[in-house]
Amino acid sequence: MKTEQTECSKAMEQKIHDEFSTRFGGEGTLYASAGRINLIGEHTDYNGGFVFPGAIDKVIMAEIRPNDSDRVRVYSVDINETAEFGLNEEDAPKEQWARYIFGVCREVIKRGGTVKGFDAVFAGNVPLGAGLSSSAALESCFAFAMNDMFNDNKIDKFELAKIGQSTEHNYCGVNCGIMDQFASVFGKKDCLMRLDCRSLEFEYFPFKLDGYTLVLVDSRVKHELVDSPYNKRRQSCERVAAKLGIETLRDATMEDLKRIESEISEEDYKRAEYVIGEKQRVLDVCDALGRGDYETVGERMYQTHEGMSKLYEVSCEELDFLNDVARECGVTGSRIMGGGFGGCTINLVKNDLYEPFVNVVTKKFADKYGHEPKIYPVIISDGARRLS
Ligand code: ADP
Ligand code: MG
Repeated sequence: MKTEQTECSKAMEQKIHDEFSTRFGGEGTLYASAGRINLIGEHTDYNGGFVFPGAIDKVIMAEIRPNDSDRVRVYSVDINETAEFGLNEEDAPKEQWARYIFGVCREVIKRGGTVKGFDAVFAGNVPLGAGLSSSAALESCFAFAMNDMFNDNKIDKFELAKIGQSTEHNYCGVNCGIMDQFASVFGKKDCLMRLDCRSLEFEYFPFKLDGYTLVLVDSRVKHELVDSPYNKRRQSCERVAAKLGIETLRDATMEDLKRIESEISEEDYKRAEYVIGEKQRVLDVCDALGRGDYETVGERMYQTHEGMSKLYEVSCEELDFLNDVARECGVTGSRIMGGGFGGCTINLVKNDLYEPFVNVVTKKFADKYGHEPKIYPVIISDGARRLS
C-alpha cells in the first residue's frame, strides 16, 4: 500500500507539473497538505473536550509561482476548470472550489499578511465530501504556501489553521470547528495529536501501527434530517451543564450526572452520559497507546460507536451494520467517524484480517444496500509542507 501511494503521489506531481508548464510556462514551487482522520473524540469539541486527529496520506498538491500582478490564476486538475480573480473583497470568484483559495488569500490579508498575484495548478486525492476533510487540505495547502511565499513564514501555524477555519466560515458558508484545519496544518508522520478544544493546547502521540492497518469504510449515504439534530444535541449538553453550574460538560463526572438524574429529562441524561464517557475514552486511548495496547484502543472505539448509536443517537442503520460486520470479522476497533447520520466508519484492523474484512464488508454491505462502500486505507502522514 505504501508504494502504491508513493506511485500515486508521483503521478499527481507529474500531472500538476505538466499542466503548470503548459499553461504558465516554466515551473513553480510545490506544496502539499493532507486530509485527516479522527481516531476518537466525537461531539466533544463543542463540549470543551478532546479530539484525537492525525493527517493522512491523502493530499492536495499545488504548484505555485508569483506572477508579478495582482491577479490569481488557478487551474484545478480534478475539476478541469480555471478560475481567475483579484485579491480584494469584491473579487470573489463564482466557482465554489476557487472560493476556498480566495478565502485563504483574503484571511491572510485581513490579518495584516501579504498576498500578491500568483499562478497555480493543483490536484488531490482526498475523497471529496467523504469526511476526510478535503476542504481543510485545500485551505491549509494554500495557507502554508502564502505564508512561505509572501510572508517569510511569519504567520504561526495555529494562525494558518484559523485562516482555513475562517475561510470556511466567511467564504464557504460552513460553520466548522478548528479540528480539521488544525490536523491538516500540524499533522506529523506516525503521530496523532490530542487537541484540547477548550485551551487549544495539544500534544503529539506516536502512532506507529505495528501489525495493524487503519481503514475507512465509506457507506456513501448521508441522511439529511429535518429537525437539525446537531443543534438539539448541543442544546441537551448545554442544559445539563447549566444544571450542574459549569460552562461545558468537560468539567462533569458521571457522579455529577447521577446526582441530577431526577432533575433532567431521560434524553438529556443519555446525551450527557455519552459526552462524559467520550472524554474519558480519549484519555484511555492515549494511555493505551503509550503501552502499545491496541486491544484497549479498539475496545474504546467500539464503545464510542455504541455510545453514538444508543446514547447520543447520531448513528444510522447503515453505520450500525458496518460496525456489526466489523465485530463479526474480528476487527480490533470500529466506530462512526464524524458527526454521524452517514459517512464513514474508521476501523483498526490486524494486517492478516485486512483482506478478509474488506472483502466481507464490501459484499455484505452491497448485498443489503445495493451499492458497495468505498474503502480507504490510510497511513498517518505529514500535514502542510513544501515539497520543492
Ligand atoms: P470534505 O468533507 O471533503 O471537506 P467539503 O464539502 O467540506 O467536503 O469540501 C469539498 C469541497 O472542497 C469540494 O466541493 C471542492 O470545492 C473543494 N475541493 C476539495 N478537494 C478538491 C480538489 N481535489 N479539487 C478541487 N476542489 C476540491
Ligand atoms: Mg470540509
